[in-house]
Amino acid sequence: MSPRLRLRLLQYGLPFVVVILIAYLKIIFIKELQESIFLLFFSAVLVSGWYGTLRSGLIATLISGLLANYLFIPPAFTFKTDTPSLFNTGIFFIEGTLFSIIIKAHNISKKKIAESSERFRIVAEGVNDYMIMILDPNGRIENINTTAQQILGYKREEITNLNFSHLYNVKDRRKRLPKKQLLQAMERGHKEISGWRINKSGKSFWIQGTISSIKNKDGSIKSLVAVFKDITRQKKVEREREDFISIATHELKQPVTSIKIYAQVLYIHLQKIKDLKAIQFSKNLIEQLNKMENLLNSLLDVTRIQRGKVILNKEKFKLQDLLVQVVSSVTKTYPNYKIEIENDKNNYVLADKERIRQVLVNLITNAIKYSPKSNLVKVKTQRNKNKVVISVQDFGIGIAKNEQLMIFDRFYRVGEKKTQITGLGLGLYITSEILKKHSSKLYLTSKVNQGSTFYFNLPIVN
Ligand code: ADP
Repeated sequence: MSPRLRLRLLQYGLPFVVVILIAYLKIIFIKELQESIFLLFFSAVLVSGWYGTLRSGLIATLISGLLANYLFIPPAFTFKTDTPSLFNTGIFFIEGTLFSIIIKAHNISKKKIAESSERFRIVAEGVNDYMIMILDPNGRIENINTTAQQILGYKREEITNLNFSHLYNVKDRRKRLPKKQLLQAMERGHKEISGWRINKSGKSFWIQGTISSIKNKDGSIKSLVAVFKDITRQKKVEREREDFISIATHELKQPVTSIKIYAQVLYIHLQKIKDLKAIQFSKNLIEQLNKMENLLNSLLDVTRIQRGKVILNKEKFKLQDLLVQVVSSVTKTYPNYKIEIENDKNNYVLADKERIRQVLVNLITNAIKYSPKSNLVKVKTQRNKNKVVISVQDFGIGIAKNEQLMIFDRFYRVGEKKTQITGLGLGLYITSEILKKHSSKLYLTSKVNQGSTFYFNLPIVN
């Protein structure tokens, strides 16, 4: 049957047949149904509107109204035009029309819901690499896609109604990690997740992904969608690479330190014999060795951070002393730069002094490195309740807004290929991680070609 003919039959044939059927029923039960002349005809409108189209419902209304008037308002077999009959028939027309429209609207929204769940099903099943899980606000699993079934080793029926915390290892469950992650996803609407999970047979695998919340109109949480990927293999490769860097760095560090000691001894010796050319060479040698040592230290720090092995030795110290020491040591390397300090000399802070020294050296060196046309750097502090906010300001090249979030990432450098300034892109990553360990945060304000100011805070102690 052609779609056009099918539509015609639905629009005209269906209402016609249903109305005739209803009229036939009415004739059979004429005595019982005498009181409610139009009532049964609403079912004709309902059936036609539901299974047909809006037009089917309207046509059913029209035929039903005319037939009821002609046959069932006594006397039969004539169109009644007296006021009450016309009024009742008119009311039926209006009600039938409204009824048809309501059915149509309901069918449209039902179709839309069906289409969107079908779309979701196709998308969920189509993304082969991603596990998708629908959770209720308590973390109970409502549905999972085929990939999730394969990776988790559970059949859909087995996992449905199980709490998603079953997929976490005992250590994470003890730390209430599942609950915490769920709450964060509900509060912020979105939570990035990454970590070990276990499948049905107890095998661990590393996942990375997100949990997002879907809200009802009143703002309450309807459900959560967890989308993640099994990245165990990448993680293993990453781990091996980190191990290699860690071993290579350790192995390199010792000979570099020895060479540096020899170079310093040589420098002293050359000064004694006043060989000016050789003095300059050995100075250059020491400078390069310092750079190499810094690089190795940065790489070691990165591995320590990644393995959660940065241990702080917090102590109370006078901030002014540290600022003066750092500024004088940086000034030795960059004698042409003026580094101003503006600090309340009575500020004592509680922190890991050596790590904060590293933070300050990093920020001040960056301020100098990225200020080719200005030679001023300002280090300021400002007390804010029981904290001191420390800022390092430069008047250099600045950082564009879209780059500002990325500069804290490992190995990220702005305009890497264009810049003449060398670096590894690790300094700010290490700095921000050290500050995170201090429950502090590194943040900045910056304008291209006007300069940048980096801020962090530390707790004041008296
Ligand atoms: P590196 O300096 O070794 O490249 P960092 O992690 O210290 O690595 O900095 C990352 C990037 O952030 C730098 O490459 C640079 O593009 C940008 N950046 C850092 N500090 C400043 C600054 N004070 N002014 C302008 N750009 C900066």
